Amino acid sequence: MTTPSLARRVATERRPDPAPPEAASKYVNQWVEPEAIGDERVPAFVLILKTRGCYWADVKGCSMCGYSKDTLGRSATPGELAAQLERAARRYRNEPYVKIYTSGSFLDDREVDPASRLAVVRAFSNARRLLFETLPEFPTDAALGPLKEAFPGELEVALGLESTDPVVLRRYVNKGASPAEYLAAADRVRALGARAKGYLLLKPPYLTEEEAVQDVVRSIVTAAEHFDALSINPVHIQNGTVVEWLYHRGRYRPPWLWSVVEGLARGARARGSARLVSFPTAGGLARGPHNCGACDARVLAAIQEASLDQRFDGLADLDCACRSEYAAVRRLEVLGVEA
Ligand code: SF4
Ligand SMILES: [Zn+2]
Repeated sequence: MTTPSLARRVATERRPDPAPPEAASKYVNQWVEPEAIGDERVPAFVLILKTRGCYWADVKGCSMCGYSKDTLGRSATPGELAAQLERAARRYRNEPYVKIYTSGSFLDDREVDPASRLAVVRAFSNARRLLFETLPEFPTDAALGPLKEAFPGELEVALGLESTDPVVLRRYVNKGASPAEYLAAADRVRALGARAKGYLLLKPPYLTEEEAVQDVVRSIVTAAEHFDALSINPVHIQNGTVVEWLYHRGRYRPPWLWSVVEGLARGARARGSARLVSFPTAGGLARGPHNCGACDARVLAAIQEASLDQRFDGLADLDCACRSEYAAVRRLEVLGVEA
């Protein structure tokens, strides 16, 4: 079991020292990935800005999150953010979907000041949809209103709800806000005229594979009416996290891809009008969600296709010899037997 001191020690160790100005003028990463808007497949331009990062990561940090290694260790100045944006804009090819990440909250003034936020949405005003992430306390009329005015397309606000189970969220994920605060934030986002997207974590630490599947399906059932889209995000092991600490001691295995498949298949029946997607990070790798190795690429491709097309029937046809091993793991873990 983790303790507050472990979580705090890990949070402190992973925080970088304050960065010099030259490091702050470069964004963390940028790439283009497949996405969909409604029934139409579109390319998405993804940009990770370098900011001070998530304030919660300084206080305690979530058990699976290692994003603070991509931060500055201090707030970026408006000039530094402008330099990052200028570099990114040179690579932008009018992709219809744009996703902006900050390793924290785009709407937290300490990470991105209000004028820089406006500059970001204006730089991508040719996009039809612009997504950014935030913690639930930041989407207010004062923060969202000017962005809505400046951006002609749809704004999509992504919230890392992770689980609608208060115990899982507080004790296992180590989030600072409750599920109720996330659901209220999603309602507020929609009332303010933006789309709400929720991230659901598949297999937080201390849950068995069976409990993890039940947790994500229950979370879809509870959250669906509050969100326009829900994404199942299976845990991958990031450096400097509590999950990595457990992994190195043989006390954590990333989720099976079969759990993602089941989460999507069962979630599809409970999602109402919300989109349901999963685009696993590090899929098929030892530190990411994986099966036996032989079927991983095939299963990952099916998960991506189902997510893009919103057609989940094909998932039932997937099979591999490892599926019976997976079923045994789920049964034996529940009984407390080493699989
Ligand atoms: S998961 Fe989100 S809230 Fe938690 S530490 Fe990472 S960025 Fe902050
Ligand atoms: Zn397999």
